[in-house]
Amino acid sequence: MLIRDIMKYIESEYDIINSTPCEVCGGSYIAESLEIHVIDNIPYDISMCVCGECGHEKAFRFFAPFINDEALVTTKKKLN
Ligand SMILES: [Zn+2]
Repeated sequence: MLIRDIMKYIESEYDIINSTPCEVCGGSYIAESLEIHVIDNIPYDISMCVCGECGHEKAFRFFAPFINDEALVTTKKKLN
């Protein structure tokens, strides 16, 4: 996968994180780290986030960017 596509993918993850309110106080999450984990042979992108208002931590899990655009669209639909 091209770097450009990976950047696009990560941007879309941040869009999801930014549009998700904190489940405790309704504040905005800030991404702290991004890691790839392999679960059942499927690479996942796990982003640890912390609420900027109350400090509540939440892990966001996404499919890793090895997949094609069609799969990415399907993933996004599931998330929405
Ligand atoms: Zn909060």
